[in-house]
Amino acid sequence: MATNRTFTMLKPDSIEKGYTGAILEKINAAGFKIVAMKMTQMTKRDAENFYAIHKDRPFFGELVEYMTRGPIVAAVLEKDNAVEDFRVLIGATNPEEAAEGTIRKLYAASIGENAVHGSDSDENAAIESAFHFAGREIF
Ligand code: UDP
Ligand code: MG
Repeated sequence: MATNRTFTMLKPDSIEKGYTGAILEKINAAGFKIVAMKMTQMTKRDAENFYAIHKDRPFFGELVEYMTRGPIVAAVLEKDNAVEDFRVLIGATNPEEAAEGTIRKLYAASIGENAVHGSDSDENAAIESAFHFAGREIF
């Protein structure tokens, strides 16, 4: 995958609270093009695999519970410097530490229920995009 793409999920709390449109608008307004997008619900196994890197962390069980409790919107986004710029747009993991105007500052409830996912490297963006869009001709 080229380095101008990243992967995002609008997490179940965003969908439940009706923030889907507002968050997608912010993503577009920040200059990201949506290359692929779908609403889906992750199974327990999906969430355990997606977040396998965190499997020994104390919050892992809650994270899997949260990510599987309702639908998410998964998307591949394109922009120059996509991974880094998207992490700036979403803000810190903990919304209390997120900068003003960031998606997590505006829409996240807590460090656990923090509205959106953003890949942390080009390599993970490719892995995470393939996880949700395997077999699609988007790459
Ligand atoms: N998380 C949590 N408690 C923590 C840290 C993280 O519940 O103390 C959750 C939160 O939903 C976060 C996800 O686990 O988005 C993945 O954590 P990571 O450190 O990768 O944060 P991110 O990359 O999403 O900012
Ligand atoms: Mg992360």
